[in-house]
Amino acid sequence: MRFMVCPQCGIANFYVKNKKGERINVKVTWDIEIVLVDKSKSLAGFNLDELFCLGCSWHGKKSELRKYCI
Ligand SMILES: [Zn+2]
Repeated sequence: MRFMVCPQCGIANFYVKNKKGERINVKVTWDIEIVLVDKSKSLAGFNLDELFCLGCSWHGKKSELRKYCI
């Protein structure tokens, strides 16, 4: 499976947050589907509209991600 990368630093590891501010690590497939890194967890209650990069300060929508590193 191939994953979308950060438009700023080029890595494929992101997290999303819930209302409590808890974070969960995700990746985004080329089909723009958000998938959990740890499959034993659940995305319930997490805001999938804003992704945060684990490698830099970038955050934004999954539609802003790229297929390839810059
Ligand atoms: Zn980044």
